[in-house]
Amino acid sequence: MYSCVQYKPMNVDVGFPLFWDKQSRGVFIMLKDKRYYTLMLFAPTANSQFRKYNIPHKVMYITMGLAGIGLLTLLFGAYSVVRYASLAIDYQMAKMDNRKLRQENDEVQKAQDKLQVRLAAQEPILQKLAESTGVKPSSDIGKNIGSGGPETRDMKDLEKAASALEAGVREIKEVVAANQIKLSAIPSIWPVRGYITSGVGDRSNPFGGGGNENHPGLDIAATHGTSIEAGGDGIVITAGPQGGYGNLVVIDHGYGITTRYGHMSRIDVKVGDHVHRGMQLGAVGSTGRSTGPHLHYEVRLYDRVVDPMNYLPKDQ
Ligand SMILES: [Zn+2]
Repeated sequence: MYSCVQYKPMNVDVGFPLFWDKQSRGVFIMLKDKRYYTLMLFAPTANSQFRKYNIPHKVMYITMGLAGIGLLTLLFGAYSVVRYASLAIDYQMAKMDNRKLRQENDEVQKAQDKLQVRLAAQEPILQKLAESTGVKPSSDIGKNIGSGGPETRDMKDLEKAASALEAGVREIKEVVAANQIKLSAIPSIWPVRGYITSGVGDRSNPFGGGGNENHPGLDIAATHGTSIEAGGDGIVITAGPQGGYGNLVVIDHGYGITTRYGHMSRIDVKVGDHVHRGMQLGAVGSTGRSTGPHLHYEVRLYDRVVDPMNYLPKDQ
């Protein structure tokens, strides 16, 4: 067993190598005894100088303490710098986000303004349409949106206005569609072109013998065989000879309207046929009670004679 005494010549508590000294090619060792920390240089070669520095405990502690405080300050400083930098980055990003949001908001506002102007422009058009078609839109369009002005409306108002416009357009469309059917049914074209020899009302008996008779239609003189056309859309309810009318075609146009075409030389349709305005029904003739080739044309509303001229364009 080795004796421990020879390794403790200076009553040393702690000893540890600190650093390698390149110049003297030795090792600095820190030793501690009751009074001092001792820094000793152990050199491996004989001609190296043996060096030693005594540092009192107090000085060592103060130095260590100061070093500790310095280190803490340094760490705190570094932490503050990092924290500040990250805060600065956050701030810059928030600023950019904010600017982007503001820009987007401006764009939305602009789009909204444009939409408002466009919607507002539709109002008078729709109102005119409503007036001309006799529709009273149930929703009050004008109330929902004005024609611009400084007051800005939000998206809700615009949506309301758009719905009102849509509803108005729908109503008008329905009425127009219904009117369209009615319009195509109404006998509004000349069934044949020619001279009008008699109108509706009292006239002297064309067969002579004196006296007046009530003529229920329009007599249009035309050469034998001239094509006769349907005045409007409808269904053929009579097609054949009928007393004084001679060869007669009667069309039911709906809406209580019927038209009659008399004295025809030829009939090209049969009962039940759907006819459209302008379709050929037959040809002018002089069958029945007639003095010469002509078309006897009648328009009846709920079977009461009306003047066909009310339905016909002024020029043939
Ligand atoms: Zn007649």
